[in-house]
Amino acid sequence: ALDIGHDLGRAILNARTFEREHQLVEELQALDTYKSQLITTVAHELKNPLTAVMGHLEMLESSPDLTGTTRSSLQVMERAAQRLGKVIDDLLLLSKVGDPTNPVIPTPVDLRAVVEEAVELSSVAADRKHVQVNVQAPPGPLVAMGDRDELDRVCTNLVSNAVKYTPEGGHVLVRLDACGDELLFSVTDDGLGISEQDQGRLFEEFFRSTNPEAAAQPGTGLGLAIVQRIVRRHGGRIDVDSELGRGSTFRVLLPLRD
Ligand code: ADP
Repeated sequence: ALDIGHDLGRAILNARTFEREHQLVEELQALDTYKSQLITTVAHELKNPLTAVMGHLEMLESSPDLTGTTRSSLQVMERAAQRLGKVIDDLLLLSKVGDPTNPVIPTPVDLRAVVEEAVELSSVAADRKHVQVNVQAPPGPLVAMGDRDELDRVCTNLVSNAVKYTPEGGHVLVRLDACGDELLFSVTDDGLGISEQDQGRLFEEFFRSTNPEAAAQPGTGLGLAIVQRIVRRHGGRIDVDSELGRGSTFRVLLPLRD
C-alpha cells in the first residue's frame, strides 16, 4: 500500500511538472508570435515615410541649380535612406520566412543557376579586393523544390559573406553536389574565421561578431538569421565549421527533387 501511495504521489508530481512545462512552451510561443508581429508592424510603419523621403530626395537631386555642397549632402542622405530601406526590407523578410502560417509554395529550382547568379553578384566586390571565387559542381542541373527568390537569398548571402569576411587576396570555394537524396551547397573561405563562442550565436537575429576585424565590415546581423529560417522552411539544414584566423565553411543540405 505504501508503494502504491508513493508511485501515485510521483505520478501526480510528474503530471504537474509536465503541465507547467507545457504552459511555459505555450507562453514562449505566444511571446515569439508577439515579437514577430511587433517587428512587422514597426517595419511597415517605417517603410511608408521612408518612401516619401526617398521620393523627395530624388526630386531635389534632379534640380539643375544646386551648389556642389547641397548636391553632395543630398547624396549622403540618399545613401543613408537606402541603407535604412534595406534594413526594413530585411526585417519584413525575416518575419515572412519565420511565419509558419505562410509556407513555401514549392516550384523546381535549378541550384546551379542560382549559384552562378550569386557568384556573379559578388564578383565586383571580390574583384575589388582580389578575392578569387571558384565554383565546383558536377555537370547538369541540380534541382531542389522551393521558392526561387528565397533560395537566391540563401546563396547570395553566404557567398557575399564569404567575400566580405575574407581579406585581400583570399579564396572562396562554392561547391554544389548531390549527396544521396539531398543537395549539398557549401561555401568555404580562407578569411577571418569565427570563434567557437560566436559560432553558437551566428544565426540569432542582429548578432554580429565581437571580432573587431569582422565588426569593421558594414552589416546588420540579419542575414544569417534569414538564411537559417529559409533553409529550415525548405526542409533543409545549415551548419558552420570555422576556425578563427583560418576561415569558415557554411554547409546547406536541401532535399533533392524526387
Ligand atoms: P552581417 O554580415 O550583416 O553582420 P550576418 O547575419 O550575415 O550579418 O552575419 C552575422 C555575423 O557572422 C557577421 O557579423 C560576421 O561576424 C559573422 N560571419 C558571417 N559569415 C562569415 C564568414 N564567412 N567569415 C567570418 N565571419 C562571418
